[in-house]
Amino acid sequence: MALTGVQIYKFLPKTNCKECDFPTCLAFAMKLAAGGVELAACPYVSDEGKAALAAASKPPIRLVTIGAGEKKIEVGNETVLFRHEKTFVHPTGLVVRIKDTASADDVAKTVAEVSGYSVDRVGMTFGLDGFAIQNDSGDAAAFAKCVETVSSKSDLPLILMATDPAAMSAALGKVGDAKPLIYAATKDNIDQMVELAKKCGCALAVRSSDGLNELAELTEKAIAAGVEDLIIDSGVRDFAGTLTTLTQIRRLALAKRFEPLGYPVITFPGEGASSLDEEAVLAAQHIAKYGSIVVIDNFTPALALALITMRLNIYTDPQKPIQMKPGLYQIGEPKAESPLCVTTNFSLTYFSIAGELEGAGWASWLLVCDTERLSVLTAWSAGKFDAEKIAKTVKGENAAEKVSHRNVIIPGGVAVLRGELEEELPDWKIMVGPREAMAVGGYLKENWKN
Ligand code: SF4
Repeated sequence: MALTGVQIYKFLPKTNCKECDFPTCLAFAMKLAAGGVELAACPYVSDEGKAALAAASKPPIRLVTIGAGEKKIEVGNETVLFRHEKTFVHPTGLVVRIKDTASADDVAKTVAEVSGYSVDRVGMTFGLDGFAIQNDSGDAAAFAKCVETVSSKSDLPLILMATDPAAMSAALGKVGDAKPLIYAATKDNIDQMVELAKKCGCALAVRSSDGLNELAELTEKAIAAGVEDLIIDSGVRDFAGTLTTLTQIRRLALAKRFEPLGYPVITFPGEGASSLDEEAVLAAQHIAKYGSIVVIDNFTPALALALITMRLNIYTDPQKPIQMKPGLYQIGEPKAESPLCVTTNFSLTYFSIAGELEGAGWASWLLVCDTERLSVLTAWSAGKFDAEKIAKTVKGENAAEKVSHRNVIIPGGVAVLRGELEEELPDWKIMVGPREAMAVGGYLKENWKN
C-alpha cells in the first residue's frame, strides 16, 4: 500500500535544505507520494528511512526490459499523465509483426527491410525496435522455425506470440538468451506461461479477454508466482475503447497507485483498424496515450517515419528543448565563397535551416549562436539573440578566416537587428534572409552573387 505524503515526511530529515530542488521536505514528500520524484533525489535519508520508504519510492509503472544488449527495449517507469507535467521517459517500442504462416522469402524480406530501416531526425538516428512473431499456423514446429529464422537474421528484440505453452517452449529454445517477451498469459494458460517466464528469465505479457478486473487478477497471480516483469494487454482493440481503457489504466496506476495495473501496456492497432491508414492513425493514438509497445502489421517506410516522428514529439522533454552546440557548422562541403548564415542553437531551428540549405544544394557555413535552446523569435524577444551576441559569435568562431567574402545572412525574423549589427561588425555586409527556413534556397538563388 502506497504511503501518503505526511507518512513519508516522518522519515525525512526535516532540514528543508532544498538540495532536492523542493523548498521543503514536506513538498518533496508530497511529490514522492504522487510518484513525481525519486527518493534518491534526497541524499540525506537514513538507511532505515530508505527501507521504510521503499514502497513509496517504487515506480508506479514498473520498468520492464525486452531483449538483451544494446538494442533492448525498456518501457515503463512513467510518472505522469501528461508530458507537460514532467516528461514521458521511455519511448514507445515500435515492433513489426510477422506471422509464421508467411513464406520464408517473405519473412526474410520483412526482416531485412525493417532491420535496415533508419531515419535521421534532429541529428539523431532512429529505427524500429523489434519483431513480434505470431504462431498463426497453430503448429509448434512452424512457429519455432520462423522464430529461429528471424532470430538468425536480426539482433532486434523479439516478442513471441503463442497461446500454446508447448509452442512457446519450443520457440524459446531457438533464441538462446535473447530474453524475448512471452506473449501471452491468459486465464487458460497462465500457470504454464509463468513457469516458462521464470525458467527463461523473460518478461511476460498478460492478456485479458474480460476487462480490467480480470487483467488485475491475472497480474496478481503472476506476481504471486514470482514473475514481476509484466506487460499488460487489455484485450481492447478499437479506437474509442483503447483510448478510454489505456487512459483508465494509466490513471489507476498513477493517480490511485493501483499496483496490479502498474505495468507497461502493449497494443495491436492493426487489429482495431480496417485499413493501413486506420492502422497508422490508431498506432499514433497509442503512442500518444498510452501504449508502451505498439505492434504494427504493415511495415512501410512512410508509416515508420510518421510513427517515429510522432514518438519523438511525444517523448521529447518539453521543458528541455534539444540543443545544438554553438559553433560554425559546415553544410555540405562549403568553400571560402559559400554563404554564411546565422541561426540559433534550438535544434529544430538548426535542422530546419540546415535541411533546407542541403536540400537546395547550397553548401554553406552555418553559424550557431548560443541562445539557450530558444528559436529565433523567442530568443530575440527574450533578449538572447541580439546584435552583440551575433557579432561576438562571428568573431569568436573566426568566421572571417573561413570565408573570403564579408557577407553574413541573418534570419528574416530578426531583420530589426540589421542596423545594430552593422555597427557591431563594420567590415561586414549584413544581409537579411527569409523569415522561413523553407525559403532559403530561393533567397540564395536570387541574392547570393559570390
Ligand atoms: S534534500 Fe532531503 S532534507 Fe533536503 S529539503 Fe529535500 S527532502 Fe528535505
